Amino acid sequence: MNIFIIKEKCTGCGLCIPVCLYDAMEIVNNLAVIKESCNLCGACVEACEFGAIVIEKSQISNLKSQIGYNGVCVFAEQQNGEIHNVVFELLGKGRELADKLKTQLSTILIGHEVDKYSQELIERGADIVYLVDDTDFENFNVESWTDVIAKLVLKYKPEIFLAGATCCGRSLFPRVASRLKLGLTADCTGLDIDMDKRILVQTRPAFGGNIMAAIISPYTRPQMATVRYKVMKERDRDRNRKGKIISVGGTFLTRYYSVGVGKPLLQRTKILKFVEDVTQKINLQEADIIVSGGRGQRLNGG
Ligand code: SF4
Ligand code: SF4
Repeated sequence: MNIFIIKEKCTGCGLCIPVCLYDAMEIVNNLAVIKESCNLCGACVEACEFGAIVIEKSQISNLKSQIGYNGVCVFAEQQNGEIHNVVFELLGKGRELADKLKTQLSTILIGHEVDKYSQELIERGADIVYLVDDTDFENFNVESWTDVIAKLVLKYKPEIFLAGATCCGRSLFPRVASRLKLGLTADCTGLDIDMDKRILVQTRPAFGGNIMAAIISPYTRPQMATVRYKVMKERDRDRNRKGKIISVGGTFLTRYYSVGVGKPLLQRTKILKFVEDVTQKINLQEADIIVSGGRGQRLNGG
């Protein structure tokens, strides 16, 4: 293992025990001990206030962190009582990737009174819906949503995790990636699988749009990407599709490694009210066709 305890620093305080989702830590003779079930997620390193836990960074440890990760997962963004259309596009692409990998497609749905959307997500291609339906998640709060998503990823271990490059996805996914110490490719316009290496090839414009870069995350799992809206085909609804809905709640929601056992969700910000932006009558992002004109300037004095 590439994780160890610095005995001289460990006080036996036990702060690291509840943050471990894998029951991989125990206190023996007033010292923390790491068990074989450790998957090197790093949560205990952040929890230890004494710097007593060290994970050695190496390619070997990164490769080890891939073990057990399987399946494609899509974050099912919903706001104001509606699933964002980019989710249906991602379910279409996610289904294609999952079929290539011969694995399952799951989706994470968070909110309050959102269970009614689960069946539609299945009909749009998901095999499993991980449902977090709780009053604490009535409104989007980037801190508590980051916490619960990071924890779901650690528990269910998808090898690919996708979200729309929307305001919500762009604020949430970098935080989840940072929390789990993963890479993230933002604003992708194409996704495919390198079947030889079983890795996700993420395409996005680079250098001011002059080239299309193919980006891979070979060493860590899940491979995370946000995808631009309206670049992928929305998957049609198949009302005969069947899937599984897994409700996540109870102790799962109260045990947050960032705040400890039994304490409320980490929310340092509070939403007072929503004010709709009425200044913008047309949302260009939603448009199927945009006709634009402009005046050019000839170069070379021509
Ligand atoms: S949190 Fe740190 S100091 Fe406390 S028991 Fe765990 S390793 Fe030791
Ligand atoms: S690295 Fe993760 S799995 Fe391993 S002991 Fe720490 S919290 Fe548990």
